[in-house]
Amino acid sequence: MSTTSNTTTPAAPQAPQYPEQVTGMYILARALRNVGIDTMYGLVGIPVTEVAYIAQEQGIRFISFRHEQQAGMAAATHGYLTKTPGVLLTVSSLGFMNGLTATANATVNCYPMIQISGSSVREPIDLDQGTYEGLDQLNVAKGLVKAAYRVNRPEDIPTAVARAYRAAVSGRPGGVYLDVTTPCLGAVMNREDAEKLLFKPVDPAPAMVPSAESVDRALQLLASAKRPAIVLGKGAAYAQIDDKIKKFVETTGIPYYPMSMAKGLLPDNHPLSALSCRSTIMEQADVVMLVGARLNWLLSRGHGKWNPQGQFIQLEIDPEEIDCNRPIAAPVVGDMESSIDAMMEKLPSYKLSMDPSWVPALQAETKTKNAKFLERLKVPTVPMTHWSALGAIKGIIESNPDVILVNEGANTLDDTRDSIDMSMPRHRIDCATWAIMGMGMGSAIGAAVASGKSVVAIEGDSAFGFSGMDFSTICRFNLPVTVCIFNNGGIYNGIGQNLSKDGDPAPTTLDVKARYDKLGEAFGAQTYYVTTPAEFATALTEAIASKKPALIDVQLAADSGKESGHIGYLNPAPLQKIIV
Ligand code: ADP
Ligand code: MG
Repeated sequence: MSTTSNTTTPAAPQAPQYPEQVTGMYILARALRNVGIDTMYGLVGIPVTEVAYIAQEQGIRFISFRHEQQAGMAAATHGYLTKTPGVLLTVSSLGFMNGLTATANATVNCYPMIQISGSSVREPIDLDQGTYEGLDQLNVAKGLVKAAYRVNRPEDIPTAVARAYRAAVSGRPGGVYLDVTTPCLGAVMNREDAEKLLFKPVDPAPAMVPSAESVDRALQLLASAKRPAIVLGKGAAYAQIDDKIKKFVETTGIPYYPMSMAKGLLPDNHPLSALSCRSTIMEQADVVMLVGARLNWLLSRGHGKWNPQGQFIQLEIDPEEIDCNRPIAAPVVGDMESSIDAMMEKLPSYKLSMDPSWVPALQAETKTKNAKFLERLKVPTVPMTHWSALGAIKGIIESNPDVILVNEGANTLDDTRDSIDMSMPRHRIDCATWAIMGMGMGSAIGAAVASGKSVVAIEGDSAFGFSGMDFSTICRFNLPVTVCIFNNGGIYNGIGQNLSKDGDPAPTTLDVKARYDKLGEAFGAQTYYVTTPAEFATALTEAIASKKPALIDVQLAADSGKESGHIGYLNPAPLQKIIV
């Protein structure tokens, strides 16, 4: 008897006898279709190529990418816009890891998505024997996602898909990892037996009704406020109850401040919008009602400028979020629709005591600040600055309110957010909670595919670099996406101090003379190279109207933009203090 263990190359999988038999790959695609998935994003190879073929055959649209991270960003954006899980398909090891970046980002941002990855054979992975793309993916994913499951047997696939679906959309939405081993993908089953296992989860994102006491507590506090304010976050936008939120704001007459991706939930120029009065709200509001917004770093974690005597109401689906940075006087834990419904229903029993001068004061401040801001945008410099470029296109984007705006960069992010008013809900998608770079092309694709609408992506040149190759995906799928690259030649700007002793470029310096439009040409897009505000305006108007892939290289001055945009305080020390 041989004493050596069986470590030889495994036998090729058994071919199914069609049509009576099917494989795990088939069951996976069928199960996804059966729960209502109509689109997948991914990048195929061993061992998942056939999954994508079968998915297409099953009527699922498969959007194939050049990099998994971008496919994942697309799936996440799809999830955010549709309240159903965006699905990402990746290969084992590196493909899985590239995609996981996006799944982790989706989890942090509360976007529902499912990353499905093929994984290698378990036995040699578990004994660390070295196998093709061998990585213990489930355990790598676990700490970074909302839930992670592995499926080893084809008969478990329908259950695994249903559980992943539920985990992604229920409660606080997030990213889910589903690991499907190579043997499971290739395993053969009787078609009839497999079909019997398929099922659709009932009520996967159940309503979570807040307690009556919590609603009364919140309304009592709100009614007592002299200078109340509402902060709308992307959890409010995600809920797709735009009319109800508008009605609550307008019935109470309380001013609101929208977080970046909640811009447009109510139009930015609404009379109760306090978009331009962030500091005043923080310093002076005595009761702040957070609606699907977290008191995280984007709101100074409830400290800094915030009125130390101010009290908070928080409408939030995740009970663990409450009190995480500052005590919350009145938590309302429930799903947004149930919470707003309950608040609205009881509102007539409470008499608000808002100071009558509060809203007019904010409106006056808004007027003054907006007029001043517009002056800044009016200066048509050549070469262009971020401001003159944005001044040229502000009116064009605002007069196309149904176009979805995708936005990333440092100065390009901050200045675009501040300059361009949104008037429709969920029409601004940006790098959000982590303020990461490298979501642009993926999110633009996910937004265009999920909504069927046109997209304009305003990208810093550095930000574009992370996802630029997937501009080819925009072209391959002929999507109505216009990408504007604000090229100031660097991270922050193109005039980084050059301290290299070898004549190398500064760490922040990129390619101010690069002709990104030629990159667009390579893939057959309509392209433009613009150097003046007037040229930019003409190009963008034409590009949006074409409803075709377009790329505009927007030549800025290399010295436009400053380090870290608006968050310079996060830099450890000014450069001058490092240099001796
Ligand atoms: P923003 O950056 O706009 O403030 P965040 O992503 O930080 O938004 O916060 C969104 C919050 O909304 C999260 O705490 C999340 O749990 C919550 N949320 C998401 N979906 C819902 C929902 N359907 N109902 C209630 N709260 C939700
Ligand atoms: Mg730049």
